[in-house]
Amino acid sequence: MKIANVNGRAVLMTSDESGVDIAELSGGRYGPDLPALYESWGEFLQWARAAEMSDAPALGVQREQLGSPSPAPRQVVAVGLNYREHAAETGFALPGALPPTFTKFPSSITGPDTAVELPIGGHTDWEVELVLVIGTGGRRIRVEDAWSHVAGVTVGQDLSERITQMEGPAPQFSLGKSFPGFTPMGPWLVTAEELADPDDLELGCSIDGTVMQLGRTSDLIFPVAELVAKLSEVLTFVPGDVIFTGTPAGVGLGRSPQRFLQAGETLSTWIEGIGEIRQTFVAPTQASS
Ligand code: ZN
Repeated sequence: MKIANVNGRAVLMTSDESGVDIAELSGGRYGPDLPALYESWGEFLQWARAAEMSDAPALGVQREQLGSPSPAPRQVVAVGLNYREHAAETGFALPGALPPTFTKFPSSITGPDTAVELPIGGHTDWEVELVLVIGTGGRRIRVEDAWSHVAGVTVGQDLSERITQMEGPAPQFSLGKSFPGFTPMGPWLVTAEELADPDDLELGCSIDGTVMQLGRTSDLIFPVAELVAKLSEVLTFVPGDVIFTGTPAGVGLGRSPQRFLQAGETLSTWIEGIGEIRQTFVAPTQASS
């Protein structure tokens, strides 16, 4: 199943350009928005598998109507250093028993296709990531049950301003990664059953057509099920929560010479079987006094 946020309404996609409004099809039982859908995720899934799509009018969907598959999560957990080569390129040690985590504050969340203003004097970097959206919440989730708590997956960019991120006595991951527009997600949520192997997806990103990162989620140090289980040893997950699972090698920080995003450049980010998101970067507007 592919579910999109179309102008704030949950839409079951029947192709990349059309779908069916879930609230309409269900007579108001599910939706109308994505957060409401996740609240009754288990029940919704059962209903959706049996629903007759032909009963509802087809809705044309345009890219500019798409919002984040989880527009208002109560928790956004992001994992650093979940691919060995990325840990090496950034000079950090490999994680111990728990994945190193930070948050991307929800004010930075957007849909899939956006223009992002570069922070003044910043070094803005790219990080393609597989993103999980939690359907059924819980704590102390077992590894073997973990995928069933995940509503689906989507494409995300963990945009990062490295000067802010690395500043101070301890790195400032959360602030450096939460400038406006720094958490684009989409184009839609894809359920795991839709993917041949949800634990082995190619992911990558390019700037103006030049590939910068290319990896596979089968290289994750903490794969999806283990990640959800480990994080839920501490956190109580609730429906709609978002998990950024970490980025493979190839970020600008790890290059020699280092390379960061410039105004006018377009970053395309994709994951096999899910889709692509696109960010165009614009020059910072000077702060007014
Ligand atoms: Zn990241």
